[in-house]
Amino acid sequence: MRYVSTRGQAPVLDFEGVLLAGLATDGGLYVPESWPQFSMADWRAMRGLSYAEIAFRVIKPFVGGSIPDADLKRMIEEAYGTFGHKAVVPLRQSGDNDWVLELFHGPTLAFKDVALQLLGRLFDWALARSGRRATIVGATSGDTGSAAIEGCRGRANLDIFIMFPNGRVSDVQRRQMTTVADKNVYAIALEGTFDDAQSMVKALFADAPFRDSVGLTAVNSINWARVMAQIVYYVTASLSLGGPDRAPAFCVPSGNFGDIFAGYCAAKMGLPISKLIVATNRNDILTRFFASGEYRKGGVEPTISPSMDIQVASNFERLLFDMHGRDGAQIRKLMSDLDQNGGFTVSPNALAETRQLFAAGKADEAATKAMLKTAFEAGNGLLVDPHTAVGLVVAAAQRKTGAVPAETPLVTLATADAAKFPDAVKAATGRHPALPPRMADLFERPERQTVLKNDFATVRNFIETHRVKV
Ligand SMILES: *Cc1c(COP(=O)(O)O)cnc(C)c1O
Repeated sequence: MRYVSTRGQAPVLDFEGVLLAGLATDGGLYVPESWPQFSMADWRAMRGLSYAEIAFRVIKPFVGGSIPDADLKRMIEEAYGTFGHKAVVPLRQSGDNDWVLELFHGPTLAFKDVALQLLGRLFDWALARSGRRATIVGATSGDTGSAAIEGCRGRANLDIFIMFPNGRVSDVQRRQMTTVADKNVYAIALEGTFDDAQSMVKALFADAPFRDSVGLTAVNSINWARVMAQIVYYVTASLSLGGPDRAPAFCVPSGNFGDIFAGYCAAKMGLPISKLIVATNRNDILTRFFASGEYRKGGVEPTISPSMDIQVASNFERLLFDMHGRDGAQIRKLMSDLDQNGGFTVSPNALAETRQLFAAGKADEAATKAMLKTAFEAGNGLLVDPHTAVGLVVAAAQRKTGAVPAETPLVTLATADAAKFPDAVKAATGRHPALPPRMADLFERPERQTVLKNDFATVRNFIETHRVKV
């Protein structure tokens, strides 16, 4: 499989190339040159297989011979062996024909584990093969950092340094990063804000001699391999609900558009899906787009679903690319309009075509809190997290208007465990969500972190002296 950039001016790469590159050199995002096709018979033949077996079949064409089958199989089995549920991503029935897909049984209790557990292993494999080491740096406001650390801990060929704003992440979030004992993991509490941490990462990447000498890499949400790993659960959920002979709808709590874009990929590969519903909180650039065709930046307002508090959705460029006939020149124009004028509008035809598959809706804070309570009361004490609650609000609205008819199974993706957001959940329901048993001792585990000044030389020096040199 070959991969092209959405902006049309970066080298065409194979899977290993896009895995290690992340962002394309022209500022675009890599996408497969064509979508692998699965027939109805191919999908049916996957019924009854384990999650890991289905993952292998779905992922194999994207890897396109870059990785020997036995290695790919082993990495997939290991990655999903870390999950705390036998089904990996179990489906729970929540209404007559309504379902919740629990994506949060991984090591850090949020759906990002599904991608990052595999990505860390793929990375390590690719580095070993080329005899290289890499240094991963990242900034986190809480969630992604711990998932990246869990995906990379103990891997032989990389070191990972994650910066978070000192004192500004929750206790659970901090402890998920600071209680990991592996020597290749460094949790840095930066004296500053999340924006300072992000600027620091940018500055480190901009220092070319440093970047090259330590083999700097990121595992951010635009890495193609992350999207690829997420395609799998659309397939397993569909097969459990009668697919491919029935076409479910999926409602996806969305921020950077990575999760729902994976659903789009599944549809492009021939999996029958009747609707992909984008659910946003009040940071609703995507919902406004699907209503009007205008994509325009607003400010970022904090919510109780913080992992969806975004100004622009970085993976959305991948959908725009397909909407515009895969013409990199048109994407370059749109992205420069976004930079310079704060937005752009797509043609009515492009919008109408996209709306055949996509729908969108938003949930404000009041509706989200009300849903936390409703889910708790209707579900006999079931606690959902605020991101999932946003999805449930939007899913219910789609049912109510008849946009998703009663006979269509409607699956809402549960992106985090309620225990990750205990304060918001307790405020809405009166119940404190407990950590799952395998994490119950999180508050007893010893912490290891380094507090660093928000100073470029200090951080660079720390990374230089602590990474493993070869
Ligand atoms: C990252 C995240 C999201 C948003 O996913 P995108 O792929 O960015 O759209 C939703 N919920 C939770 C809990 C997350 O961590």
